[in-house]
Amino acid sequence: MTRRWTSVARAAGLLRADGTPGATIFAEMSALAASTGAINLGQGFPDVDGPASVAAAAQRAIADGANQYPPGPGILELREAIAEHQAARYGLVVDPGTQVLVTAGATEAIAASVLALAGPDDEVLTLEPFYDAYAAVVAMAGATHTTAPLRATPDGFRVDLAALEQAFTDRTRIVLLNTPHNPTGAVLTHDELVAVARLAQRHDALVVTDEVYEHLTLDGPHGRPPHVPIASLPGMAKRTLTISSAGKTFSFTGWKIGWVAGPEHLVAAVRTVKQFLTYVSGAPFQPAVAFALRDPGVAQWVDDLAASLARRRDLLCEGLVAAGLDVVRPDGTYFVLADARPLGHEDGAELCRALPALAGVVGVPVRAFTTAGSSADEALASWVRFTFVKREDVLERAVEGLARLGR
Ligand SMILES: *Cc1c(COP(=O)(O)O)cnc(C)c1O
Repeated sequence: MTRRWTSVARAAGLLRADGTPGATIFAEMSALAASTGAINLGQGFPDVDGPASVAAAAQRAIADGANQYPPGPGILELREAIAEHQAARYGLVVDPGTQVLVTAGATEAIAASVLALAGPDDEVLTLEPFYDAYAAVVAMAGATHTTAPLRATPDGFRVDLAALEQAFTDRTRIVLLNTPHNPTGAVLTHDELVAVARLAQRHDALVVTDEVYEHLTLDGPHGRPPHVPIASLPGMAKRTLTISSAGKTFSFTGWKIGWVAGPEHLVAAVRTVKQFLTYVSGAPFQPAVAFALRDPGVAQWVDDLAASLARRRDLLCEGLVAAGLDVVRPDGTYFVLADARPLGHEDGAELCRALPALAGVVGVPVRAFTTAGSSADEALASWVRFTFVKREDVLERAVEGLARLGR
């Protein structure tokens, strides 16, 4: 006899009726890369680790005995380093005692924020395409996911401001923002941020903003676009939770040290949920990340990383264009989106399944980041996301493979 059961995760479509995982295209593409030996430009993690001085700080912390549960909100030294960073970089003043919480990566900060602040009567609004974890956590909160599209323009992916205005309702509880934006590589402009802020204020919505790529804006013909936290706009600090992480900034994605900063009552709500998700994590990594946030040599390393990523972005973009794809040059992040329609490919997922054989490369269809049937989903049906956070020699080989596509 089979017992009937259900769960929020199952109701949200994350699990099938028998409890097995819903097949994700990410798992399928990584398996394909492994079985074919193709170059994996699907998953976005660096193939070179972060600064040796930061790794040494973590090793020292283990030797010095930072191996038991750290305090629930994170060690004070790290909360102070985060507060200093927000003040020095952006003029955002937060009290490390009450307004900063260390989490198990940005992922937990996002999950705990949405679970703490939104529920079944609420809508959570994101840009679309969106980082895939957003849809999952909104579903787990039992809230409704609404979206406003980013559109490909000659000026990069830009927020459709009319659609954004229409997407807001009086049920919009959270705007879950992301800039620099994964997967499009857009860095939201001041005007776009002002539009989001104005609408959030009009509808009395909170803003939860995922800024894990805050230091990875990339130089281009108009210089390096500034990253502006929406919390720094007039009147926004009191309704905004700002999230970031050490993973992308310092190329230690496996360390999973993230944080959230904002008004005391909101951070307290997030801390209450976080307490029962992981409680705490990463004891020896916390002092190492505090060191990384404060050390001028590491800050220079991060700037050098951004400069090197800009060159690697150019290398991959030029290769994709030479192969005949349409490319929207990203202003930040690890990723570029390319449209395969000029080569006659209408379906990005189908192309991704064929890419290892056609070009020896793996990408991810952009439809992995959209809601089926939405306007963004239709507009991006033939688009593929590639990462350029790989060594130049790896990207050069990928570009050689991609060149076969156009022949
Ligand atoms: C990588 C990534 C995260 C996850 O960050 P962790 O610190 O590894 O949990 C969150 N948001 C976006 C947009 C990302 O690309």
